[in-house]
This record gives sequence, structure tokens and C-alpha cells, in this order.
Amino acid sequence: MNKKLSFSIWYIFLAIWAVILVHDFIHALQKIEELPYSQFKTLVATGKVAEVSVSGQILTGKLKPEGESKEPQLFRTIRVEDPDLVKELTQHSVTFTGVIETTFWRDVLSWVLPVVLFVGVWFFIFQRLGQAQGGFMRVGQSKAKIYMEKDIKVTFADVAGVDEAKEELHEVIEFLKTPEKFTKLGGKIPKGILLVGPPGTGKTLLARAVAGEAAVPFFSISGSEFVEMFVGVGAARVRDLFEQAKLKAPCIIFIDELDALGKARGMGPMAHEEREQTLNQLLVEMDGFDPRIGVILMAATNRPEILDPALLRAGRFDRHVLVDRPDKVGRLAILRVHAKQVALAGDADLETVAGMTPGFSGADLANIINEAALLAVRRGKDQVGLSELQEAVERVIAGLEKKNRVLNKMEKERVAYHETGHALVALSLPGADQVQKISIIPRGIAALGYTLQLPTEDRFLMTKSELENKVAVLLGGRIAEELVFGEASTGAQNDLVKATDIAKSMVKAYGMSEKLGTITLERERQPQFVQIQAAQEKGDYSEETAREIDCEIRRIIDDQYERVKRLLGERKAALQEGATLLLEREVITGSDLKTIMDKA
Ligand code: ADP
Ligand code: ZN
Repeated sequence: MNKKLSFSIWYIFLAIWAVILVHDFIHALQKIEELPYSQFKTLVATGKVAEVSVSGQILTGKLKPEGESKEPQLFRTIRVEDPDLVKELTQHSVTFTGVIETTFWRDVLSWVLPVVLFVGVWFFIFQRLGQAQGGFMRVGQSKAKIYMEKDIKVTFADVAGVDEAKEELHEVIEFLKTPEKFTKLGGKIPKGILLVGPPGTGKTLLARAVAGEAAVPFFSISGSEFVEMFVGVGAARVRDLFEQAKLKAPCIIFIDELDALGKARGMGPMAHEEREQTLNQLLVEMDGFDPRIGVILMAATNRPEILDPALLRAGRFDRHVLVDRPDKVGRLAILRVHAKQVALAGDADLETVAGMTPGFSGADLANIINEAALLAVRRGKDQVGLSELQEAVERVIAGLEKKNRVLNKMEKERVAYHETGHALVALSLPGADQVQKISIIPRGIAALGYTLQLPTEDRFLMTKSELENKVAVLLGGRIAEELVFGEASTGAQNDLVKATDIAKSMVKAYGMSEKLGTITLERERQPQFVQIQAAQEKGDYSEETAREIDCEIRRIIDDQYERVKRLLGERKAALQEGATLLLEREVITGSDLKTIMDKA
């Protein structure tokens, strides 16, 4: 059973329990005394009863207050067959009523409440079990909002650095502009276009730009919003979405985070019923519409490998457009797009910034411009200069500077040695990325300090020794700690994860282990091969090979460990001096450390 379902059932139990408690409580407050009928008769006869109300067999009433007590004692008794009761009550001037109402409501409640509860629970379970499919209940209370935008101002001019993707989407724009022309010529129109790429590379932006260029309405919905809903609601939403879109054709339907809803069915510990139904409905709708009416479906994902293969079949999302991180030229173009909105100083050379930011996504670059503009304002400048841009790059890399986060003296010392260790290794190895600066000012949430290494250029190929150097630099922090303090700390976890990943790739993907030979044991995940990929992913090698892989990964790490230990051991003086300077200044440059190294 679903988590939510059992939660709600507990809720109901809790409510019932609470009602019972309150009921008992009120009774307890009133302190009603249960009397035998005979005693009641005696009390009446001795004139101690003030009033009585009769309801069926039950008599309730009050005694006259006795002594100091102002509160009349309440009592209850069960009547036995007694035709003279009324006469006697009148005789002793007891006020009496026959109360039907109270029992009426109690009876009604005692019957109706359980029925209502039962029906409620049943209804709930029924709905949960997915009977809502055929519109059993019209479900309008969905959380997933369908957004419809009409006059989108975004155009292709606002999207930069993804020229190939734009090229592929031109055809779609043409089609949306003049669907008749296309259908007359018998051109084949893609129904579904899947934009594949890392977060922040402009997938949503591209989809909106297509709508803007073609001047058509843009319907959007996010896959992740479907996941939290009742069974059937998501499916109904999908139906709604397509119905609305068909009325507004030509138009674009855009589903963001398709992977959230389009995960392969039956994946995970529990098959998620709701997701499956929604996914099925999406497949049904996709099969059921004719693209010639002018509806184009677009979706975005950064994890194509987990998508249900059914989504990718012909006639569905069969057109994949790769939206990758931009190269240097692309980065420059993106920076220019966003820099249009700010005043740049003469020295603000965007090309330098583009050179500093390999691996950045479009969103990161937009963020840099934004940060730089804020910095300029804070500094009272009316133009954004290079220094603001450079600082913005650092901020975006490492999160905002947090001077106020206090490390104790010991921790600070450790971090200083750790970072100097990384930097020293990097400076000592030929071909390692150049060290820009070393800092022990904590930034963001995770990093206590950092060593900023910037490659001088974009790299597409790396040699075996370069990869080994990378591992060595990553290990440098931990080994420096061990050398100086005699033991490791938790601070190196992230480094170890990265180092292990590199070693693993060397063995499994790049065939860089002599022992295993020049074979690849892992296919690079390419979006184009999604379908085949999904099937083969689990690896097609034996247990024995798996063990050898582990050994080789360990050997690579061990080799580098020894190498770095030797290297830092020889440079212990420089390590001491560098760390001391770093502790004093909190930030030092690569060349500061280089000077120390050359002297020592
Ligand atoms: P995704 O959908 O791929 O996660 P978005 O389209 O939401 O990324 O991008 C977020 C923001 O980043 C955009 O609104 C835009 O400001 C900026 N951006 C991302 N990629 C680009 C690009 N290629 N050109 C211009 N701006 C971009
Ligand atoms: Zn580190």
C-alpha cells in the first residue's frame, strides 16, 4: 500500500479515537450517578428529585441540591415497567419531560457517523486503487498547473551557443507557421522532440523561443508535479492538456523534467502506480493525435537513460536534440546576450570571462552577469568592470563568500594544510591545471576551503598521465593532513569520491589498465543510443572481471598515493611555509606558493 494511503487511514483512526476520548471526558466531567430504579423511587418519594427527563427506558435527572453543594447531583437510571411513574412524579412535584430530541440526535449520530466514516474510507481506497481512470470522479483539484502563454517574446536571438540545436528546430518553426504548406508537400512532421542536456543549458528557453519565433501559444507543465497526486489525477491532467492544446492549435506543448514522470515502468522498489498511469495516458495521447493539426510536443530531460523506452519509440519522442554545455565561442555569445542588459566598462572583456569558465552552463553564465552587476552597484559604480566579472566567476564557482562562518583554530590549520597540499601537488606535476588561488575562506555550504585550478583551455582529450595527475592532486589534500597531523580527517571525502571516479573511468571506460587490456567495460552513455543503452547498462562482464576492476582501481589510487606521499614528503618545508602564509592571509595566489616552493 501507498505511504499516503496508510497515512490517511491512521488519520481516520486518530479522529475516531479523539471523538471517543472527548465523549468520555464530557461524561466524566458531569459525574452522572447510576442509580438502581428502586433507589430512584425512594428518592422521588422522599422529595429529593428536582427534575427528570424520560427518553425511552432511560431516565436522567437532577437531585435537589443538598447541604453546601450548589451543583445538583446528576443521575441516571433504567426504568422498569412502572405505569404509576407519572402519577408519582406529579405527586412529588418533580418537573419532568419526555425528551426525544436528545436521543434522536444521538441515535442519528451513532448510526450515521460510522456509515459516513465507512463510506469515506471505502471511497478513499477505491480512488487510490485507481478506479478513477474513466473519469469516475472529475478531478479538478490537481496541483500540476498547466501554463499557457500566448505572446512569447523570447526568440532565437535570446538563445546562444546552441547553434546545432537551433538548426534542428528551424524546421519545427516553419511547420508551426504554415502547417498547410507542410502537409501539402507531404513532409513528415515530428510529433515529439526531446531536448536532452544538463540542467541550465537552455532547454526550456529553446522551447519557448520556438513558440516565440512561430508566434504560437506555449503550454507547459512539469513532469515532477505529477508525481505527488492521486491516482488518476495525472492522467486526467494529461488528457486535459491535450484537449486544450488541440483547441489552440497550432501550438507547442512542453513537458519539463520528463524523466520524473517517464521513468521506466517497474523501476524502483515499488512500481509507482500514479506515475505509470500518467505515463500510459501520455503515450495514448501521443499515439492518438495527428501532428498535422499543428500541435508539437516538446520535452526536456537531463537523464535520458532512465526514460521508459516506450516514450522514445517511433511516433513518440523519436527526435532527440542535444543541448550541451557551450564551448568557448558559445559561452562568449551567451555572455553577450545577457550583457546587453547591463552597462559594461571598457575593460570588461567578455572573452576573458568566457576563457575562465569552461564547463559552465548558460544559466551559470547568466548568473555571472547578474552577480557582476550587483557587485558593481554595491561598489557604487555605474558600469560593470572586469574585476566584478572575475569576482562573479569565483562566486558562482564556489558559492557566496561566507566570512562569518567560524572554524576553530585547529580546523582552520587543518584546512590550510589540506589546501596547500592540493596546490603543491598541482604545482609540482607537469601538465596539471594551473593553480589560480588557494583560499581557506569557507564558501557555500560544503567547501571549507578550496584550491582554484583553472584550465587554460577547453579540453576534449586527456591523456593517461593527465588523469593520473588529477588523481594525485585530489589526494594531495588528504596526504598533507596525514603528513602533518598524523591522521586523516573527514574533510577529504569529496576529493576521494572524485579520485575514485576518475580511476574507475580509466579502468572501465578508457581501457587504461594494462592488466585488463585495452577494452572498454562501460559504454559511454549517449542520448542517441538510449534504447540500447538501457538494456545493456548493467555490465556484461563476469564476477572475476569485476574483482579485477576493483583491484585495478585500487592499484591506480595506491600508486598515486605513494607518489604524492613521496612528493609532499620532499616538499614538507614548502608545505609548512605555504600553509602558514595561507593561515595568515586566508587567500594566496598560485604564484605566491610557487615562490615559496622555489625558495625552499
Ligand atoms: P534548462 O531548461 O536547460 O534547465 P533553462 O532554459 O531553464 O535551462 O535556462 C535557465 C536560464 O539560463 C535561462 O532563462 C537563460 O537566462 C539562461 N540560459 C541558459 N542557456 C542559455 C543559452 N544557451 N543562451 C542564453 N541564455 C541561456
Ligand atoms: Zn580537498
